[in-house]
Amino acid sequence: MPRKRTRVECVECRRLEVHHGRGLCSTCHKRASARGQLADYPPSQSQIDKMPAADRYEDYVFLISTGRARTTREAAVIMGVAHKTLEKALTRHRARMRLTNVEQLTTV
Ligand SMILES: [Zn+2]
Repeated sequence: MPRKRTRVECVECRRLEVHHGRGLCSTCHKRASARGQLADYPPSQSQIDKMPAADRYEDYVFLISTGRARTTREAAVIMGVAHKTLEKALTRHRARMRLTNVEQLTTV
C-alpha cells in the first residue's frame, strides 16, 4: 500500500509538491542530493525525531567525508541533534549493517 505523503510548499522552488525531505520536493531534493548540498537544507525537528538511524548515518558520513565535521560531536551540532542521539544512531546502524570502519574508508 503506498504511503500517503504530505504536500508542502517546497523551500526551493516554492511549488506545492509532495514532500520528499528537508522541505524539498522530489525534483529539488534530487538536485540537492546530486550536488551534495542536502546538508544545506536542515530537516525540521519533527523530521529529525523520526529520522531512521540509516539517514543519520548517511548524513554523518557525508559531513565527515566532505570535511565539514571532523568528529561525531561536530557532526551532531551541524545536524542539529544531540551528540548522544547521533552516537546511538551510528551504533544502531553499524550493528544492523555489521559495519565498523566505514568512516575510515570514506575519509581517506
Ligand atoms: Zn522544489
